[in-house]
Amino acid sequence: MSDPNTAFDLVILGGGSGGYACALRAAQLGKSVVLIEKDKLGGTCLHRGCIPTKALLHAGEVADSAREGEQFGVKTALEGIDMTGVNAYKDGVVSRLYKGLQGLVKSRKITYVEGSGRLVSPTAVEVDGRRYEGQHVVLATGSVPKWFPGMEPDGNRVLTSDHALALDRVPTSVIVLGGGVIGVEFASAWRSFGAEVTIVEALPRLVPAEEESSSKHLERRFRKRGIAFHTGTKFSSVEHTEDGVRVTLENGTQLEAELMLVAVGRGPVSEGLGYDEVGVAMERGFVTVDGYMQTNVPTISAVGDLVPTPQFAHVGFQEGILVAERLAGLDVVPIDYYGVPRITYSEPEIASVGLTTAQAKEKYGEDKIKVVDYDLAGNGKSQILKTAGAVKLIGVEDGPVVGVHMVGARVGELLAEAQLIYNWEAFPAEVASLIHGHPSQSEAVGEAHLALAGKPLHAHG
Ligand SMILES: Cc1cc2nc3c(=O)[nH]c(=O)nc-3n(C[C@H](O)[C@H](O)[C@H](O)COP(=O)(O)OP(=O)(O)OC[C@H]3O[C@@H](n4cnc5c(N)ncnc54)[C@H](O)[C@@H]3O)c2cc1C
Repeated sequence: MSDPNTAFDLVILGGGSGGYACALRAAQLGKSVVLIEKDKLGGTCLHRGCIPTKALLHAGEVADSAREGEQFGVKTALEGIDMTGVNAYKDGVVSRLYKGLQGLVKSRKITYVEGSGRLVSPTAVEVDGRRYEGQHVVLATGSVPKWFPGMEPDGNRVLTSDHALALDRVPTSVIVLGGGVIGVEFASAWRSFGAEVTIVEALPRLVPAEEESSSKHLERRFRKRGIAFHTGTKFSSVEHTEDGVRVTLENGTQLEAELMLVAVGRGPVSEGLGYDEVGVAMERGFVTVDGYMQTNVPTISAVGDLVPTPQFAHVGFQEGILVAERLAGLDVVPIDYYGVPRITYSEPEIASVGLTTAQAKEKYGEDKIKVVDYDLAGNGKSQILKTAGAVKLIGVEDGPVVGVHMVGARVGELLAEAQLIYNWEAFPAEVASLIHGHPSQSEAVGEAHLALAGKPLHAHG
């Protein structure tokens, strides 16, 4: 029931993945909700993140198929990339989803307010002089691209991912600063479109948060695709040249290209929004929460990229749902962030869930874990697709599977099964007894579990 003194049960600031998921679920549970968004409903993921980047990567895949048709006996040739056409396709996908989402919010009777909001009390947000009171406030203002001094984006030669998604041409050459998920996805798409790409990563390997062997597979394939990279090398400076940029690395190496993409991470949007004044605890700009997404202020929760949990849209969805359900009095359990599926949509894809080998060794002890690395060379469907890679499993001695790490074309779709295995704490023998369709890439998941259960079929062991 609403308190008669408050207009809404829930005031949500920010209409991205975290905020709108919370709004939809709360409304479904009978709560009155106001959702405040200053830009576009759907936020980063829909307009500047997940969806447009995956559309670009898919267009890149089509280009690669056209270029490589000969390998399959199909006479095709890539005539070129019409970036206007690619952007029309990408924007079409975004706008259809945007329309659908707007309809959904409307149908759930959520009050949608367009405008920039500011937290003015533990129970109120103000927008253009108008105050929205609630029994509870959810902060979901998300994140924006970050950069370090000396690499400031200008939107012309030095770009963030926001600028890169609006580019009306295929650059001839790009230096990608940052070899994390966003950096390697752009590198992969641009290479498919024909650009010369060089990645600079300060840590010793690309996608450094992933299993080490996954990085090795990716690096091997990127080398074959002609994507250059400098790992373990720090950026020093960038200067404009007549027709592009010159980047100097700390080891003295100089690189030239038409553009530089800054993909060194994303920072929280929390400054100047009243969080400090109301006493919301923060660390490095991220709002601090407990396992139930509750801040130190009892009437305020926070979700999504604004809090220091993995920056994925599906994490935002789940955190938003958790808050809505908690406030509705349902039983909720804190999220196991290791159980969150992680996909990098480059060619090849990387997909993982659970612990890395290093983390599992630390948690269970080196002698208590078993590792199986099943090469996709033994998988019929992967041979048909001409993709290389692996399904790697980490299991605990006499215990469940605690990590799944996959590399190869389309392995992102295999992660649905892998995340069930991890989150349901399945034992290798249990998964080994399940049948996978033949020929499919999912068979590689089955084969790896057969091997981990001590009875490999199409593998030596
Ligand atoms: C290039 C790129 C690719 C990505 N790819 C993937 C992917 O494939 N899969 C995946 O899971 N994740 C991906 N992500 C990450 C994903 O987009 C984010 O994790 C997700 O959008 C976070 O949701 P959020 O609701 O926390 O924040 P956001 O989506 O950033 O939403 C926050 C919203 O709050 C609004 N806002 C901010 N301040 C105010 C204010 N004062 N008043 C009103 N409104 C305000 C903003 O306008 C914004 O709409 C990608 C991100 C990028 C940049």
